[in-house]
Amino acid sequence: STTSLGEDYEDENLVNSDEVMKKPCPVQIVLAHEDDHNFELDEAALEQILLQEHIRDLNIVVVSVAGAFRKGKSFLLDFMLRYMYNKDHQSWIGGNNEPLTGFTWRGGCERETTGIQVWNEVFVIDRPDGTKVAVLLMDTQGAFDSQSTIKDCATVFALSTMTSSVQTLMFLIRDWSYPYEHSYGLEGGKQFLEKRLQVKQNQHEELQNVRKHIHNCFSNLGCFLLPHPGLKVATNPSFDGRLKDIDEDFKRELRNLVPLLLAPENLVEKEISGSKVTCRDLVEYFKAYIKIYQG
Ligand code: GDP
Ligand code: MG
Repeated sequence: STTSLGEDYEDENLVNSDEVMKKPCPVQIVLAHEDDHNFELDEAALEQILLQEHIRDLNIVVVSVAGAFRKGKSFLLDFMLRYMYNKDHQSWIGGNNEPLTGFTWRGGCERETTGIQVWNEVFVIDRPDGTKVAVLLMDTQGAFDSQSTIKDCATVFALSTMTSSVQTLMFLIRDWSYPYEHSYGLEGGKQFLEKRLQVKQNQHEELQNVRKHIHNCFSNLGCFLLPHPGLKVATNPSFDGRLKDIDEDFKRELRNLVPLLLAPENLVEKEISGSKVTCRDLVEYFKAYIKIYQG
């Protein structure tokens, strides 16, 4: 678990921009200030990551995991990292006794904050058609608590969706406990989502509009039903992510889910107004987008 992150790292400036590229770690690029409801972009950090010579002119794929605190985003992202680092191996998911590291990494250069973090190592992937793309992993955290308003939360998510490759949106439903109604995985999720997104005559107009809007915004909507990972994961404070403590069903579904999102043939290049976006372009889009939200 990651609860003690904040306490261990009192030094706000532990990461200054020179430190950003030293070791693979998550780097905060957008910071939501809860006191004055403002947003800050760390341009220097973003530039150090995205303007590296070997990637800056490649088209970018942005994979963003968004959700509230303590919902398992970092846990999922750590498995995504394992895939990215070992995708040519059948056993990318790792060994039974290997603690999970990555976004939950506590040797840490970041405290846990509301906003957007990216993995400072951008992956270069060869696509089946022979082109290379750059893959950026993003952790987007809103806090659905008394500290932050709904607007702050919406802003963080808006920023992440505008900058991620949201031609595809995948809802991930965790702790699914009705596999007898809708089976785990993509197929069950599809049935479930269709049911939930149905527009019905007797529905309140606002609810109907949300459903239509979701359909219009995302050309490729998906939903994946993930089983409960087991009690050790959910409740044991000394759980460190090792596979032997995770339920078999969960691991099986995870082995399906992660390649669905990240296999070279499934990566979706980011487009804005019909044009592919390079790493270099994304820096400029971030600068422009953040201005929209700065009071
Ligand atoms: P984040 O704040 O969204 O990044 O959440 P974390 O990845 O740090 O996980 C928060 C807690 O939830 C940790 O104790 C995890 O072990 C646990 N966890 C991770 N995935 C799941 C899941 O699918 N279901 C349940 N019940 N717990 C999970
Ligand atoms: Mg996290």
